[in-house]
Amino acid sequence: MFVSDLRIDPTTAETTARALDDRAIGAYLGLAIGDALGATVEFLTPREIRDQYGEHRDMVGGGWLRLRKGRVTDDTEMSLALGRSILTAGAVVPRAVAEAFSDWMRTKPVDMGHTVRRGISLYRRTGATQVPENEQDAGNGACMRALPVALFTLGAEPAAVVAASRVQAHVTHHNHLSDAGTVTVVRMVQSALLGGTRNQLKGLADALVAEDGRYGYDRRRMENPSGYIVETLRAVFQALFATDGFEAALVDVVNRGGDADTTGAILGMIAGALYGRQAIPRRWLNALDEETKSACRTQAVRLLHASPSCGAADRSP
Ligand code: MN
Ligand code: MN
Repeated sequence: MFVSDLRIDPTTAETTARALDDRAIGAYLGLAIGDALGATVEFLTPREIRDQYGEHRDMVGGGWLRLRKGRVTDDTEMSLALGRSILTAGAVVPRAVAEAFSDWMRTKPVDMGHTVRRGISLYRRTGATQVPENEQDAGNGACMRALPVALFTLGAEPAAVVAASRVQAHVTHHNHLSDAGTVTVVRMVQSALLGGTRNQLKGLADALVAEDGRYGYDRRRMENPSGYIVETLRAVFQALFATDGFEAALVDVVNRGGDADTTGAILGMIAGALYGRQAIPRRWLNALDEETKSACRTQAVRLLHASPSCGAADRSP
C-alpha cells in the first residue's frame, strides 16, 4: 500500500479537513508528550523504572537530564527547527535544514546525539549538507525528527516523500537502515493522517520487515531499546500493535526504558496521528510546556496547509 493511494475524497472535503487538522495536531503534540514522558526514564531498565515509579505514566520531569516537568528534549526541538526551515523555504531544502539545525545547536540544547553533533559540525566546517554514507550511523536521530516532512509531503508521490525524507535525514545520518526506518515512520504517520487503520499501519511496518529482516518485531519483547534505529522501531511497533489507544501505547513503550524519550517521541507521533488529539489524556496536555505546546499546534496546521501536493489551498481550518 502506498500513501498516495489514500486520496482525500473531495465530496467530504470540509469534514475531512477538520479531521486532518485534528490528527496532525495530535501527531505533533503526541511527539512532544512522548518525548517529555519518556525523558524521565531514559536509560533506565524496566526493572529500575518499576522500582522508582511503579508504572511510569505521569509527566513529572527529572531523569538524567534533570528536566523541568513538561519539558521536551532534542527530539521535539529538532522537529520544530526542521519545521521552521520547511515553512520559511517553502520546501525541504538541504541548506535551509542544515542551517536550522546549526541555529538550534547554537541554543545550547539540553541534549544532543553524537551523530547529530558530528553532522552539524561538518556542515559548519565545510558547508556539506549531506554526511558521507556510513554503515555505523544507524541511530534513531533522523527518524525522531521526521514529523514535519510527513506533514508537508502529505499526498505527494511516494518518490517525492522518500526524497524529502532523505534530504532532512542525510544532514546528519546517511545510512540505509536509518533511511528505510525513517521513511516507514513518515508513511505510517501519513497513512494515519488520512484515516488509515492500525492494521494498515501494520502493513507498512511489515513491508519494512520484508525489506530488511532485522526490523522483525514479532520475536522477543524489546526492552531497553538502544538508540539503534532497529531496536527503537521494534519497541515502537510492538507497543503500537499490542494496544488500542494513545495512552496505553505510550505507557507501554516508555516503560520499556532505554532510549525512552525517543521511542516515546516516535510512538507519540504515529499514535497521535492515528487516534487524534482528543485521545491525548488531558493531564499530559496540561503538563506539557506551554511554549512547546503552542509551537507544535501552530506548526502542525501550517505545515499541512503549506503542503504543495494536497489541495491545501482549498482547506480552511
Ligand atoms: Mn532526546
Ligand atoms: Mn533519546
